[in-house]
Amino acid sequence: MLIEQPPFIYRMLFPGAVWRKPVEGEKTVYLTFDDGPIPEITPWVLDLLDKYDVKATFFCVGDNVRKYPEIYKTILDRGHKVGNHTFNHIQGIKTFSKKYLENTMLATKHIDSDLFRPPHGHMRIGQYFTLRKYYKIIMWDVVTRDYSKLMTPEKVFNNVKKYTRDGSVIVFHDSIKSETNMKYALPRSIEWLKKQGYTFKLL
Ligand SMILES: [Zn+2]
Repeated sequence: MLIEQPPFIYRMLFPGAVWRKPVEGEKTVYLTFDDGPIPEITPWVLDLLDKYDVKATFFCVGDNVRKYPEIYKTILDRGHKVGNHTFNHIQGIKTFSKKYLENTMLATKHIDSDLFRPPHGHMRIGQYFTLRKYYKIIMWDVVTRDYSKLMTPEKVFNNVKKYTRDGSVIVFHDSIKSETNMKYALPRSIEWLKKQGYTFKLL
């Protein structure tokens, strides 16, 4: 049985957020990368995307952009898009709203974007309704789970094949935790998606 991810009930908590973005008459997907930029992984991803001539959206952690501004600049120079993923990758539900919003605003000093994605895919409802005044809130409908120690590289690739639909927003991570799974699954996923006739768009 195909279990839709994420569940309907969960999506209803964040009305107006983007989970999927089908374009009429086109078969599109949106590749996204969370948690970078970092020198160990992000340049590898950028070179791979260039090789396949694919553009993606990078949800950056503000503190990483502060530390590695040249990689952040390379993301933009190569035609990709960026989004805000807070300054310290903090969890909305576990953080007082004032602090959460301050941390997100701190990230705007480093990340010039109207897109926001909450770390760990959650935040308090109040945080959501405040942030949506300033940002397009981008969630996902295909989370590859490349970060999980419980996943094998093959399973990560299978998640892409199993759950991707027209307009899917797919999440990978340019992080150390994801390295093995992502480096296996990303090129295979791009090739598979191209074979299925998908074109890659920016959010
Ligand atoms: Zn994240």
